[in-house]
Order: sequence, then C-alpha cells, then structure tokens
Amino acid sequence: MILEATPSLANETNPWLAAAARFDEAAERLGLDEGLQKVLRTSTMELTVHIPVVLDDGRIEVFTGYRVQHSIARGPAKGGIRYAADVSLDEVRALAAWMTWKCAVVNIPFGGGKGGIICDPALLSETELERLTRRYTAQIMDILGPERDVPAPDMNTNEQTMAWIMDTYSMHHRKTTTAVVTGKPLDLGGSRGRPEATGRGCMFVTLEALRRFGLKPADTSVVIQGFGNVGGMAAKLMAAAGFRIVSIIEWDGAVYNSSGLDIAALMKHRHDTGSILGFPGAEEIDRDEAMYLDCDVLLPAAKENVITSQNAARLRAKILCEGANGPTTHEADRILADKGIFVIPDILANAGGVTVSYFEWVQDRQGYFWNEKLVNDRLEEIMVDSFRDIVGYAEKHNVNNRIGAYMVALDRVAFAIRTRGLYA
Ligand code: NAD
Repeated sequence: MILEATPSLANETNPWLAAAARFDEAAERLGLDEGLQKVLRTSTMELTVHIPVVLDDGRIEVFTGYRVQHSIARGPAKGGIRYAADVSLDEVRALAAWMTWKCAVVNIPFGGGKGGIICDPALLSETELERLTRRYTAQIMDILGPERDVPAPDMNTNEQTMAWIMDTYSMHHRKTTTAVVTGKPLDLGGSRGRPEATGRGCMFVTLEALRRFGLKPADTSVVIQGFGNVGGMAAKLMAAAGFRIVSIIEWDGAVYNSSGLDIAALMKHRHDTGSILGFPGAEEIDRDEAMYLDCDVLLPAAKENVITSQNAARLRAKILCEGANGPTTHEADRILADKGIFVIPDILANAGGVTVSYFEWVQDRQGYFWNEKLVNDRLEEIMVDSFRDIVGYAEKHNVNNRIGAYMVALDRVAFAIRTRGLYA
C-alpha cells in the first residue's frame, strides 16, 4: 500500500524534524540550560569544498563536498562520508549531530561528524571516483586526523574509498596513518568483526531485552525487514544463536516459515537467484502484512520511516529492535508506547558498527590487532552495558527508551562541555 504523502505525514517522516523533536524533548526533561542547548544545536565546524576532477574523457567537472563536525567535546569527530546526488549541507549537518548522540550512547570517546559529496557515483568510473576521493581528502585534510576527525564509509562509499583516503592523508603526512579512517580493508588496518558488527550488536541488545520478558532464544520468533548488511548478519547470527527467524522481508516480497527459516540456505538462494522469493523452504506472503505478524521481535533493518502513525497500531511484536536508522517516526513512538511495545532505539540498537569502528581506531593506534573473539567480547560488553544504562535511566525517569537514550547522550556531551569549559 502506498500512502499519499499528506503535509503532516511529510513532516512526520522528515528525519531532521524527527531528530529535533527528540532533542527538544530530551533537553527539556533534562532541564538543560539554554546556552548549552544553543551549543548542542549548532555544528562546531562546517567545511564546504568545491572539487575539480579531470574526467576520463579529459573534461573537467567540479563537485561540491562537505565535512561537518558537530561536536568534538568528547573526542575526535566520527562519522561516515556519503556520495549521492541528493547530499546537502542540511542533511550532513543533521547526520553529524546524530553521530554525536550515537557515540555518546555507547560511551565511546568520539564526537560526531559526517561528510558527503554531491555526485551520482553510478555515472563515475572507478578512476574518476579515485581522483574525486583523493582531491576531496586533500581539500578537507586540515580538519582530518586520528585525533581530529575520523571518517568511515556510508552510502555509496566502501573500504576501497577508505583506503584511498588513508593513502592520500598518509602521503601528505609522510607516514602511514591508518587511524585516520575506519572501515578499511582488513589487510590495511581494518578490524576483524566489522562487517558483522551492526547485526551482532542488534543481537546482543535483543538478548538483553529477552531477559526482561523471560524469553529464551529458542522460544523467540523474529521478523526481519531488510536482508542486507545489518538484517542479513543479524538473521545469520540470531539463527545460529537459536532464535526462530520466521520471516524475512525484502523490497520485492516476504518469505515465511513458522518453524524458522534456514537462513544459510536463504542467503545462498538469494545469492544464486538475486531474490529471496522462490525459496523452497518457505511460503511467500505480502511484504506489508509481514510487518504485522504476531512475533516476539521485529527488527527493521532496511530504511527509515517504515513505522509511522499510519501503521504503528497494527504492529504485534513484543520487542522492536531498530537495526535501521530512523525506522520509527516520533508520532509512532507514542502509539508503540501505548501498546506496550518495548523499543530498542536505533541510536543504541545499531551502534555496534561505530563501536567496532572505535576498536579499529584503537587497534591502528596500538599497531596490535585483536582476534575476532576479543572484538566480539568487547562489543558485547559495550552493547550490554549501554542497554542497561539506557533502559535503567528510562525507567528511573519514566520516559520511553528512545528519550532515555537521548537524555543520557545529551547529558554526557553537556557534561564534557561544562567540565572542559568554554575556551576564551
Ligand atoms: P544494505 O543496503 O546492505 O541492506 C538494506 C537491505 O534492505 C537490502 O537488502 C535492500 O534490498 C532491502 N530493502 C530496501 N528497501 C526495502 C523495503 N522497502 N522493504 C524491505 N527491504 C528493503 O544496507 P545496510 O548497511 O544493511 O543498512 C540498513 C539500515 O541500517 C540503514 O538504515 C542504515 O543507515 C542502517 N545502519 C547500517 C549500519 C551498517 O553498519 N551497515 C550501521 C548503522 C545503521
């Protein structure tokens, strides 16, 4: 069903307004003073660069790129770089702030940053992308660095992009500086466990939530929307941990098996055929209806705004674990709260990725690389501690888990600013 975008739904699904609404509510409940609110609403630094690139046919094109540091109060700015035609300074600014809160929720020593270049990467060759990336890096280099600002991959950028950034920075600084970016290839200072980290983090916080319901993985039915990096890894790891993954929802349909899907076989089927549909071990069901299945855990891991005021009342899950960024609107939060659905908010649930990015940065600086067990054990410790901090705080202050997460994050960042003091 495609919903008509009425003006109110358009406002409801505007991610920046949604983040602002949560910031306002958390700041008000914390009683945060007006001056600090002003600081936290504003980026520390916003750099716009115009990037000339020689195309393969010899023509010169000029692209516009940004790097925004929202906060460096708790440590270097941390956040991805995206390449897309609809990148804008407003979007990059809002995503940088989002990173500040996410890093503070899991209590890692980073602030928030984000970057982007306005371009259509599908129209650029590999060599054009390399020249674009290197020139962009050279133009923002003064604000980058392991102790300043540490980018990572985001939409349409990947470990190759990070390798180019690392190399360009290193050539200028006359020494290999792997810690300047995360999300690098394993052989160039990347971390073991990074590809699985976000999905694994979702599993750890879900296991914590299960304890509150007295559920064991074997008694737990799970519906996952999105079978990509986050959803696919979560499905694989949760199935291996004994969860019953009853439905996987993709853009072209959904598959269902009440006894639990064979996730490894479904992955192979999708790899071989390009779709989850036609899988012999499941029946096909409507992808919208699959969201409303009676299940213990719903894990949206595809895109933003899939749970809105228009459909939240139909959800029948006990636990909502937000693998995607921004899957639930502010209006839907109230409906979910009335229904007693236990929400593990995105800035906690999907923070496993940035947590292992932090481990990558630590390993690069140590020059000593951890085995996968150590990475996973330390990830578990951080995810479990953060879950307990947030849920405990929300209960104590009688707010929902999302507002609890924002309150903890704002409070941590505000504490750092107050304690450091404003210089000069
Ligand atoms: P991805 O592209 O690997 O996977 C997304 C999957 O969702 C794809 O398989 C796609 O086909 C599917 N999909 C797209 N539209 C859909 C729809 N309407 N219904 C059902 N399925 C649909 O992306 P990803 O890296 O897994 O990211 C997914 C979400 O998680 C995004 O919101 C992203 O911002 C967030 N996230 C990702 C990470 C990470 O480490 N990858 C970290 C934090 C947050």
